[in-house]
Amino acid sequence: MHFNELNLSQELLRAVDELGYTEMTEIQQQSIPLLLEGRDVVGRSNTGTGKTAAFGIPAVESITEADRKSTVILILCPTRELAMQANEEIRKFAKFKEGVKSSAIYGGASMEKQIHELKRGANIVIGTPGRVMDHIRRRTLKLDNIRTVILDEADEMLNMGFREDIESILADVPEDRQTVLFSATMPKEIMAITEKYQTDPVHIKIKTAQKTVELIEQFYFEVAMGRKTDALKLLLAAYRPASAMVFCNTKVMVDQLTEELVKSGFRAAGLHGDMKQIQRTQVMNSFKNKAAEILVATDVAARGIDVSGVDAVFNYDLPQDNEYYIHRIGRTGRAGRTGTAYTLISGRKQLYDLRAIEKYTHAEIREMPLPGKSDIIAMKKESLTSEISEAQAGHNAYDILDRLAAQGIDYREAAARLIEKQLKSETDALPDLESARPLKKGRNSGAKTVKIVINVGRNRRIAPNFILGALVDATGMTGRDFGKIDIFDEHTTVEVPEAESEYIIDSTDSMKINGNKVEVKLYKGSDSDRFKSRRSGEKPRFDRKKKAYGNKKRAEIFSDYIPDRKKRMKKRH
Ligand code: ADP
Ligand code: MG
Repeated sequence: MHFNELNLSQELLRAVDELGYTEMTEIQQQSIPLLLEGRDVVGRSNTGTGKTAAFGIPAVESITEADRKSTVILILCPTRELAMQANEEIRKFAKFKEGVKSSAIYGGASMEKQIHELKRGANIVIGTPGRVMDHIRRRTLKLDNIRTVILDEADEMLNMGFREDIESILADVPEDRQTVLFSATMPKEIMAITEKYQTDPVHIKIKTAQKTVELIEQFYFEVAMGRKTDALKLLLAAYRPASAMVFCNTKVMVDQLTEELVKSGFRAAGLHGDMKQIQRTQVMNSFKNKAAEILVATDVAARGIDVSGVDAVFNYDLPQDNEYYIHRIGRTGRAGRTGTAYTLISGRKQLYDLRAIEKYTHAEIREMPLPGKSDIIAMKKESLTSEISEAQAGHNAYDILDRLAAQGIDYREAAARLIEKQLKSETDALPDLESARPLKKGRNSGAKTVKIVINVGRNRRIAPNFILGALVDATGMTGRDFGKIDIFDEHTTVEVPEAESEYIIDSTDSMKINGNKVEVKLYKGSDSDRFKSRRSGEKPRFDRKKKAYGNKKRAEIFSDYIPDRKKRMKKRH
């Protein structure tokens, strides 16, 4: 269905036309007519399916001369980036229509500027819930005339803890308003909000998960424990995406990885929620205009961000949620283009999680071997050949060749030296492949060890097999990779290979033992140990080496731990 089959004003049709939209997407086809009628709507459809236009076009269309002075439409978005992005898009829809003023209000930016903008009269306000609440409290944003409230990415807003703010806003706007909600998922909390704040809503659900994913080729690489950074560098060097996103699960990882990539000569920039607004805007702009070729981001920071021409997505960490996987890889292959998604996994646990994702998305994720330096050199040879064959030479170049010839270096030799130099510069900094490929056998005998400390001990009736089972499960390493386990009253220490300690601490981030979430840290001796027992001079009760479970079969080691594992599996499916 074409946009001009809708009963839209000429101004809107012209704007849509200028944006190059012809056919409506499915969610647009189904929701725009209802929204124009003033109905309450709950819309579910994947990322990249044009939800902004689905609510933005009716919003702009509904503005009349009478709305000049007051805020009549309020749009809530989970992040500043999304608020800015929605605002930009709405301004495009409003390009030919007089009297539409939209304003984005979000945290981390000057309050005064926003107040000033609101004072001049914004009939459409797009904001993050926290900052919107701020403006309501200061009475710089008045809700009396609001006739439409739109919650964009409602599930994400709830995930981010905005529930109270959202409910408070919904309770304060006039009751006869239109309430519109877009969400990728429909957890109970969203249903509750729908029931409480919407009137006879129409539910629209577009099943495009498969379609979106179908256009994206998906691969995974098995990487040795703790070697994902090296592996990523090899992959980036091999595939040379002009524009790629790399996803990590933590802000710290985003910072570390960005720094590593920059050090290795990649034009990478990081994006996460702890950064100042100005920095975030700078990063987004440099990624959009391709000054930065790689954007390293957390899920929340990157949620819904719409940058065209992203040709690859890398999952450095596996996403914590299957739905996130779809969101992530949906950053590539947007608007019908094809794209590629690469996932790095270490250990059996992650392979198992990846299989669960594969089931969930109904798409094949194929294994690929990590490219080695020689593979990369072979690829570079090819790309250099075509680069050179397409390049133009100028008189400066011939000048140099003539000078070299005078020194006895002929053209062939000169060209060869230059090419070699170029090849070297592109491949010298690459890490060694062997360090990134997974070892087939995991025994770390003779390797240097350190201790990690876990904040449960006898007080929680912990036995060594609980600890070992949980560690094996969380890391995908084998029981034999772990050394001595000492259980104290309130904490436990475990000997681990030093080279893997960082990886182990990372991958036990959400580890549970006996149903209790635990904290795992590097053990720095008794003085700095936060979990230290108040009793002094306590002796460990279990010593892994003396006890027999070191020889137990894996199944026995797991036996205490299996119920929890089963529960988790059920939850997944
Ligand atoms: P979502 O909010 O569902 O993730 P967006 O609103 O960010 O999706 O839209 C994704 C991309 O698709 C944007 O670049 C947008 O400009 C484009 N788009 C939206 N609707 C259409 C359409 N009808 N035709 C072509 N492109 C569209
Ligand atoms: Mg969106």
